[in-house]
Amino acid sequence: MNHVIPASQLETQITALFVKAGATPANAQQVAANLVMANLSGHDSHGVGMAPRYVDAILEGNLSPNTSVAVKVDTGMLLGLDGQHGFGQVVGVQAMEMAFERVAQHGACIMSLASSHHLGRIGHFAEMAVAKGWVSLHFVSVFSRPVVAPFGGADGRFGTNPCCIGIPLGYGASTQEPFVLDFATSRVAQGKMRVAHNEGREVKPGTLIDEHGNPTNKPGVVVVPQSNGRMGALLPFGEYKGFGMAVACELLGGALSGGGTWHQQADGRRAVLNSMLTIVIDPARLGTQMSFAQESLAFVDWLRQSPDAPGSDGVTLAGEPERKARAERLKNGVSVDDATWQEIQASAQKLGMRL
Ligand code: NAD
Repeated sequence: MNHVIPASQLETQITALFVKAGATPANAQQVAANLVMANLSGHDSHGVGMAPRYVDAILEGNLSPNTSVAVKVDTGMLLGLDGQHGFGQVVGVQAMEMAFERVAQHGACIMSLASSHHLGRIGHFAEMAVAKGWVSLHFVSVFSRPVVAPFGGADGRFGTNPCCIGIPLGYGASTQEPFVLDFATSRVAQGKMRVAHNEGREVKPGTLIDEHGNPTNKPGVVVVPQSNGRMGALLPFGEYKGFGMAVACELLGGALSGGGTWHQQADGRRAVLNSMLTIVIDPARLGTQMSFAQESLAFVDWLRQSPDAPGSDGVTLAGEPERKARAERLKNGVSVDDATWQEIQASAQKLGMRL
């Protein structure tokens, strides 16, 4: 059974949960709104289903709900920040706003953010930049548990390291909805396996290996410990190319930022830390604003003129599925599967409250 809940009601409930867990009302609301926006965008893996995990991370002392970003290096265009295990939805936004100040001054900013708690949907940050007409690139490492196997390997060694690129399309009166490419470098996001497992669904072949390194379609292998006490793993997208991208995210997001890389067995902690390298560019300051806008629109129009492949709905540009989901879910409510809803209720009970 699914629970269909209006987005505003869901946001109020999740805000109350985080306030009870110790967050200020403003931080709680910011995190809840971000999670609900992920649900609205069609990414239930990064929506309110994460809330119980956040509450556990606060209770185990690995998520500081009211912490702010710390500045380690500030040389103008280069900004080195530390998220200090604060809510990613809060310190991530602070970090982006600091980067925006540098872009306004210098035309670009390279910003690293180490050791934030879970940043959620990375597209949120790219959307902040493209709303200003700026290009935004994000390479992110995940410090949680080793759930993705290297290409050619047979067990999990690193996280689902997301990559995101936001590009504004057009300029002034010709502005179109932006290109926002935002994806986990695993075949699918880990959270989608949790949702599929909760809903009793199997997943596409080529997504997973089991605890012995053999292919499987059962998402439970990466959600609950298996018979031998071990877990299975997700495979990277795009074979060795996607694997390379995942490694680049670990090296740029994790190592270069100072957040560190994963090289240990799972430790059972509920916290999920993210480190992120971000590059923001103002096309106007690069001197290509008009040609960039014209060429971008000419290219995407050209792509859209491609005839529909048999059985397909035609060409889709990154960012469109999320905007379509938002329009539908804002109108009809967010559907939360029963297992996820029970987990949220159990989390509330743990804090001595009812939702
Ligand atoms: P996904 O596989 O649904 O891919 C999403 C991307 O592909 C989006 O840019 C979307 O617009 C585009 N897309 C989807 N269908 C398309 C089509 N038919 N044609 C063209 N483009 C299309 O997403 P995912 O990999 O499951 O990632 C989901 C979310 O999880 C992302 O928001 C990501 O940032 C987030 N994530 C976060 C973390 C973290 O640790 N914070 C880790 C992994 C993933």
